[in-house]
Amino acid sequence: MQKEYKAYTLQTFKKIPQVQKLPEEILFSIEAVGKVYPFRVNNYVIDELIDWDNVPDDPCFRMTFPQKDMLTPTNYDEIASVTGGGSSQEDIKDRLKEIYLALNPHPAGQLEENVPLLDGNRLEGVQHKYNETILVFPSQGQTCHAYCSFCFRWPQFVGIDSLKFSMRRVDPLIQYLRQHPEVSDVLFTGGDPLVMKTKVFASYIDAILDADFPHLKTIRIGTKALSYWPYRFLTDADADDLLRLFAKIAEKGKHLAFMANFNHPQELKTDAVRKAIARIRDTGAEIRTQSPLLANINDEARIWADMWAEQVTLGCIPYYMFIVRDTGAQHYFGVPLAKAWDIFRGAYQNISGLARTARGPIMSTTYGKVQVLGINELQGAKVFVLQFLQARDPSWVLRPFFADYDANAIWLDELEPFGEKSFFFESKPV
Ligand SMILES: *Cc1c(COP(=O)(O)O)cnc(C)c1O
Ligand code: SF4
Repeated sequence: MQKEYKAYTLQTFKKIPQVQKLPEEILFSIEAVGKVYPFRVNNYVIDELIDWDNVPDDPCFRMTFPQKDMLTPTNYDEIASVTGGGSSQEDIKDRLKEIYLALNPHPAGQLEENVPLLDGNRLEGVQHKYNETILVFPSQGQTCHAYCSFCFRWPQFVGIDSLKFSMRRVDPLIQYLRQHPEVSDVLFTGGDPLVMKTKVFASYIDAILDADFPHLKTIRIGTKALSYWPYRFLTDADADDLLRLFAKIAEKGKHLAFMANFNHPQELKTDAVRKAIARIRDTGAEIRTQSPLLANINDEARIWADMWAEQVTLGCIPYYMFIVRDTGAQHYFGVPLAKAWDIFRGAYQNISGLARTARGPIMSTTYGKVQVLGINELQGAKVFVLQFLQARDPSWVLRPFFADYDANAIWLDELEPFGEKSFFFESKPV
């Protein structure tokens, strides 16, 4: 039988029976903070993921429900004062727009810098930053089965049209791939591409498979559907078609890399997610996992060790631990680089080599993916040791470099180069 998908938003969340039992002040803060950050949960998240005996501390609750401390006290007071009526809709909208823009919605120059050109025109909905891999944002995949409170893609959901970017037609993508033999990977992302009906998603995949470019080796899907709606692979009306589409990718000699976002071991416990993982693996796809490191949700080495070990047990391959970007509620979710390295190392020391395929902690910056390799001493001074795992300029990759130690630094732009005026990559034009 099909599991019925039921979504709840800011307008309807008070109908959730479990929510009705929460204290009034939590309901009010959800309503206030939910005006700034997009909010959407579903019946799976409510009934199977969140442990309501553990709310408000439950990680899956914090992962999806707006939290009071996600706004600075000033912004919170402002929003709280217009929550519950009195102010005109226009006033609220204007105020919200200012707050959004101050939250740095498109970090790392995403919109401006990485849109490639096709015959001199911008190819909207595609990003090409690293030689081998292009990102594709299908327009029908610009939403998710539930929304993460920490998500850096939230401007795509909040309805400021000028901030959106997405691809409407597949032909230009195929033309672009034809002209770029250096591309071996196409990564579908969003939002969540698996909110698309199989038929729609298949129109992209089939076009790529039909073109049959020898240089195209891997199709990747970046998704949180396993975590937020595993029934996508079990009982949805087109679930079997989706799995057949996955199998077809392998039959055509391409690799399907299923890039699953899991933030906490709790997301791996339900029968539904375990069955879904098994079904996906049966198609020949490999599931690789990634997550940001998030204060208040998963900022303990033990959580990561448990999560990675559990993933290996289920046949998944741990891939990336990301440092959260300088956008949105960074003061709530942010973890300093020094602490991030401690957590990564603490987890790594307590897992089998099979789970040590995880790499991190990583900042996805304008220049590239920068890994914090560690903290050490150089000429009597404490330093960060860093390296690029991916870079705009491939010659930067795996070249260790140093920055002055700073216990509070959260992002690359807060670091000072050690013993030099600038980092080696800053002198080159980007
Ligand atoms: C992370 C990322 C990729 C993929 O990098 P891999 O190291 O191959 O996983 C591709 N494009 C962009 C813009 C990215 O941030
Ligand atoms: S599933 Fe991904 S894109 Fe969607 S809200 Fe969560 S982090 Fe953002």
